[in-house]
Amino acid sequence: MNLFLGIDFGTSGARSVVIDTHGGVQAEGVCNSKESLVTMESPKLWKNGLFELLNQIPKDLCSQIRAIAINGTSATVLLCDEMGNPVTAPMAYNHSCDGAIVERLKAIAPPDHPVLSSTSSLVKLLWWQENLTPPPKGKLYFLHQGDWLGFLLHDKLGISDYHNSLKLGYDVVNLCYQSWLLRAIQWEGKIRPILPQVLTPGTCISPINGELSDRFGFRRDCIIRAGTTDSIAAFIASGASYPGEAVTSLGSTLVLKLLSPRAINVAKYGIYSHRFGDLWLTGGASNTGGALLRHFFSDRQLESLSRQINPNIPCYLDYYPLLQPGDRFPINDPNLLPRLEPRPSNDVEFLHGLLNAIARIESQGYQLLQNLGASPLQRVYTAGGGSQNSTWTTIRQHHLQVPVIPSPHTQAAYGTACLAMGGKLIKKSNC
Ligand code: ADP
Repeated sequence: MNLFLGIDFGTSGARSVVIDTHGGVQAEGVCNSKESLVTMESPKLWKNGLFELLNQIPKDLCSQIRAIAINGTSATVLLCDEMGNPVTAPMAYNHSCDGAIVERLKAIAPPDHPVLSSTSSLVKLLWWQENLTPPPKGKLYFLHQGDWLGFLLHDKLGISDYHNSLKLGYDVVNLCYQSWLLRAIQWEGKIRPILPQVLTPGTCISPINGELSDRFGFRRDCIIRAGTTDSIAAFIASGASYPGEAVTSLGSTLVLKLLSPRAINVAKYGIYSHRFGDLWLTGGASNTGGALLRHFFSDRQLESLSRQINPNIPCYLDYYPLLQPGDRFPINDPNLLPRLEPRPSNDVEFLHGLLNAIARIESQGYQLLQNLGASPLQRVYTAGGGSQNSTWTTIRQHHLQVPVIPSPHTQAAYGTACLAMGGKLIKKSNC
């Protein structure tokens, strides 16, 4: 049997999935890291987590694995020396740097570029250039978490993919580093890190390091492929692959992603686009979502109250459910006030109002993406805690007016295993 391994380093621990050529899951593994802060020790923990996941795979399956890919959290970055040893603690995906760097970048980066955020990979790199003391001697490599973990498997330092590298400022249209970016990193910083060579996700990099192949029982010709980010891996897992196909994630927040032939980047709405083969993955995120539902109800209450809602009758409540003021997408207003009044005494009616409002915001989000030039919406896959709520699915279908279906697979590790198998982003079926 030919098998393929996907490894996910997401925000809550690491997971692995081994699939066969039909997309069937043959093995799964998990390594729940307790780490909450990113420290000098983190890369060691990531490495231990990676090796623990490899160790969990039954040996008879290891010997049948033909290719491996890894995804990491987007914009979790590190600096390392020419042996690949980290020289400073990594910066996590949500680490926010000095806004002054963003202001300086605005003068030279293209308008609306995803690097113009205090958490972007490029801003983190520029911060290190200015502030890392004492400046390490010798060559330095700038890598994303997934790049570094991949390096442990294939031994080639300084390789990334165009999903991880979008927030570093890599030009994903022309597949190069543009002169504005090279100029930015020439600022009078004390260090000049080497930028990674950027490959298409899924590109074959090299066979696995021989020592690891012997240690874990992999074939000597098991290929390591270029990886992706955790959220794109989750999108790949859904199987969506045609223009107009979308994935809504109903987790703590509401996240929309829509495949389209055109890239859309509008910073004020937080909309940006990842290259996805010949298509573009456009998307945005609202602050509404499951965290607000959890504020009012337990998951068990959500289930039982939802069963009592008639999703086919109109809802008279006009809410904009937020835990605190402000939203960016689909309404860009940092002072937008939560609208949760009037609250009916009956919880079934109240929840109906909340679910209906979030469904309306989802529909407005897709409408905004289409107004800005994305493909007409054809079909919406759903991931996240809210995807199991069939009442909500019916309400959403009324608003969206297209089929709404649960994603057959939602795990990022599964999507990354698909990437390991196909080496391509767009496929006919799930894998
Ligand atoms: P995240 O990974 O973003 O934290 P999850 O995908 O695990 O989120 O989803 C958790 C969210 O799902 C919670 O905020 C919860 O309110 C919501 N949720 C759980 N069960 C239901 C349900 N039956 N109906 C609607 N929402 C639900």
